[in-house]
This record gives sequence, structure tokens and C-alpha cells, in this order.
Amino acid sequence: MRMRAAVLHEPGHVVVEEVELDSPRAGEVLVKVAAAGVCHSDLHLVDGHLGDGRWPMVLGHEGAGVVEAVGEGVTHVVVGDPVGFSFVPSCRKCPACLAGRFNMCGPAGTNGAKGALMDGTSRLSLPDGTMLQHGLMTACFAEHTVVDGRGAVKLPPGLPLWQAALLGCGVMTGFGAVRNVGRVSAGESVAVIGCGGVGLQVVAAAALAGAWPLIAIDRDPAKLEIARRRGATHVIDATTTDPREAVLELNAGGVDHAFEVVGSSETMRLAWELLRPAATAVVVGLAPAGVEVSFPAIDFLADKGIRGSYYGSGDPAADLPALAELAVTGELDLSDVVTHVSDLDGVNAALERLRRGEGARTVLVLDSQLAGPPSL
Ligand SMILES: [Zn+2]
Ligand SMILES: [Zn+2]
Repeated sequence: MRMRAAVLHEPGHVVVEEVELDSPRAGEVLVKVAAAGVCHSDLHLVDGHLGDGRWPMVLGHEGAGVVEAVGEGVTHVVVGDPVGFSFVPSCRKCPACLAGRFNMCGPAGTNGAKGALMDGTSRLSLPDGTMLQHGLMTACFAEHTVVDGRGAVKLPPGLPLWQAALLGCGVMTGFGAVRNVGRVSAGESVAVIGCGGVGLQVVAAAALAGAWPLIAIDRDPAKLEIARRRGATHVIDATTTDPREAVLELNAGGVDHAFEVVGSSETMRLAWELLRPAATAVVVGLAPAGVEVSFPAIDFLADKGIRGSYYGSGDPAADLPALAELAVTGELDLSDVVTHVSDLDGVNAALERLRRGEGARTVLVLDSQLAGPPSL
């Protein structure tokens, strides 16, 4: 079918134009996209920070929609089901999956980096026949998309799709870091460095876990205000206050958990420095290829640790519906991180806002009837 999509032709050059989408093959699902979130990783792809060869590509890896057709063998969803996208459609057969590390699925990682679906091929092309990559196996900055069946996770009824759109990247990544990696318990102290679209999900997850104090650090007072509404007990504006001194003053000896959600060597080092002895920092932020980080090795004597987290470090197929339930019951408000809403043509403006650090999340509405009316 012919449809409109946001195509990255080369670094810095994104055009909304007509592309061709082939029918779903066995095990795949055709989804009519309702809404999609614009994530910092999209900006990294657009700026060429994730390596060469990742274009031409239909962008978008965080979104939700409604199943329009299913390929042979797909039984977990039927036409008309609302689904959220998971960009790691774990195969359940590779060594990582068999070890329970579903977010590290080998074939999903290889094909995702290649811009292909799980069989190594693409359903997307330009009208002249040029093959297009599927952005992180999702390619949802488009009116329709074909994804691996395991990448279309059925959503509970009652959740507006413009909100559900955020589940598949920001919410999964932020909540997973707190629940699956940090395993934050009630009464433990938490510092969150960076309060963008993912960092604000870390704040919400830590608040639900009962963290105290829950210290949010950012350079934008507007984002810190959202963090406060999401349960941060203290906020630190790093443009006016030294976060090291402020956190150590609040919590002498350092915090039990520090989450880095920026992706820079300075903030990774800051996460390390905010830890109390025997605590572990979790790096959630995506750093451009080539960035290195250093910290004083003597601190290992204090039993301190630092580790990464990718896509929530859990089982996307199980975690995504569980997080959707939290939103349905009202324990998690998904709407408050949405600072901008636009149509597909607003994609470049949304990327530009991310580049300037302005606002938390832009949601692109592809189908306003399916997405529901965003209320800001
Ligand atoms: Zn993302
Ligand atoms: Zn696997």
C-alpha cells in the first residue's frame, strides 16, 4: 500500500513523503498507527550518532495503533485490537531469551540494528523501489506499519492510544530500570539525573515504589515541575545549584540509587559520585557512539557499582501490558509528560525541540479518531 511516512534519507534530513508498505508475512502484523512519541533516540538516529548505514529509514519506535491485518500463524491479536509497539520482539529461542534476558534477544538486536524485521528483510520502500529500513523494527512515524507479531502487544481496553503510544519506549525503559534493575524499595533514597521523556518515567516508577527522598535533577525548571507532580520530593536545578553538594546535603553519605537518564559522560560520573557506599548506579541514557566515561577507581573499595539498562531489562511482552494496566487504574498518569502534540508533518519541529531540550515529549497523532483527543 501507499502511505505517508517520515523518512530519514541521511543524517539531518527527514522528509515526510509517500512510501510503499508490503503486506505482512507469516508471523507479522499490519497496524494502523494512531499515535507515536518522538524520543531522544530518534534524534540520535537523525543526527547519525548511532553509527553509519542507518538510513534511508522510516523513523519511529514508540507508538500505538489498531491491528488491521495479521499474517499467517498470528493468534495473539486479531483485527481491531489496540496494540502498543515493542521494539524488541524477543524470539524466545536464542541463548539470551532462554536465559530470561528477553530484552537482549540476539536476532531482535541484530535485525533491529540492520533496520529489518525478524526475517532479515524489509516491507518498506520508496516509490522508485529503494529499500527503506524499519526504524528499530517499528517504523511508526507512518500511517501504517508492519511489525513482527511479538512487537505488537495487545493493550487493555480503556486506555487512550495517544497516551498508550508512550508505553513502548519511554515508560518501559524508565519503569524497567527502577523495577527490574534498581529494584527500588520503599524508604530508599533515589536520585534521577535528567527529567526528559524517560527520566520522568523513572521518577514516576520510583515514586510508586515509595522512594524517599526522591531527588530529581535537571537543567529545565519546567521539567522539574513535572517531576514534582510525578512524586519527586526534592528538585535540583543544575543550572543554579551544584547537584553533588545538594544531594549530599539532603542525604549525607549519598543515595541508595542513582539513575542517569541523559547519556553524557558528565552525568554518568555524577551518578557515580552521588552513590552511598555499596550502592549501584544505573545508566539509562543513550550516549552517542564513541563517548567514554571515567571515575575514581579507588571508589571500588567502597563496593560501589555502575551498570547499564536497555529497554527496561525485563520481558517487553509481559512488562508492556502490566504498565498499561497501571495507566488504566490511574496509578500512572501518562498524559502529563506530553508537552506537545502535532501531526506527522510536525516531526522536524519535534526533533528540533528535542535538540534544544525543550519540552518532555511530543506525540505525533497519525489518526486522530483512533488516538483519541489529546487534552493538554
Ligand atoms: Zn525511545
Ligand atoms: Zn531471542
